[in-house]
Amino acid sequence: MIELDNLDVKILAYLQGNSRESFQEIAKCCLTSVPTVKSRVDRMLELGIIRKFTIDIDNSKLGITEAILLVNSKPGAVSRISEELRGLEEVKELYVTSDSDTAIVSRVAGDMQRILAIQERINLTDVNNIRILSVKNAFRKDSNIPLASSSITLTCSYCDKKVAGEAVRKKFDDKDYFFCCTTCQGEFEKKYTKLLAKV
Ligand SMILES: [Zn+2]
Repeated sequence: MIELDNLDVKILAYLQGNSRESFQEIAKCCLTSVPTVKSRVDRMLELGIIRKFTIDIDNSKLGITEAILLVNSKPGAVSRISEELRGLEEVKELYVTSDSDTAIVSRVAGDMQRILAIQERINLTDVNNIRILSVKNAFRKDSNIPLASSSITLTCSYCDKKVAGEAVRKKFDDKDYFFCCTTCQGEFEKKYTKLLAKV
């Protein structure tokens, strides 16, 4: 697991809210410097923690229709139909429910004509019923992960214990390490320099 410190988490929280938030603004809010924010963001990009800076488009303003597709099929056909639906560009999300009544629920978006034609675009063998319900109003909670939650735990690079409170951060060989206390940091440093000396 990749280790993040409090500043990394704060920066991620700002960028989750607005990926175009300026480094100046973030630096100001985190009481740090612009180069620090930049280097942290670069590091998180390098580590793949930040995959991309994305945008949130309002589909309704672009004439894109959203609909819910309900497919009730014989149990044996569920995986084949799911597979076919997943291959369609309009299918954005797909859920296979355990309820025998509604086997496949899918959120589709795109051109209305194409959405309505889904029934002709998939193999309907063993499909009992297929319904397309167009979405009038959508409400989605943002999918951001609450970063302040317990999902991120720092562990001490020396003793492996969970770090309670502020971690001691130290760079070795340009890599960040975190420690629970300065004693662990000192011990690690000794071990590390010994290792280096051997090499
Ligand atoms: Zn420790």
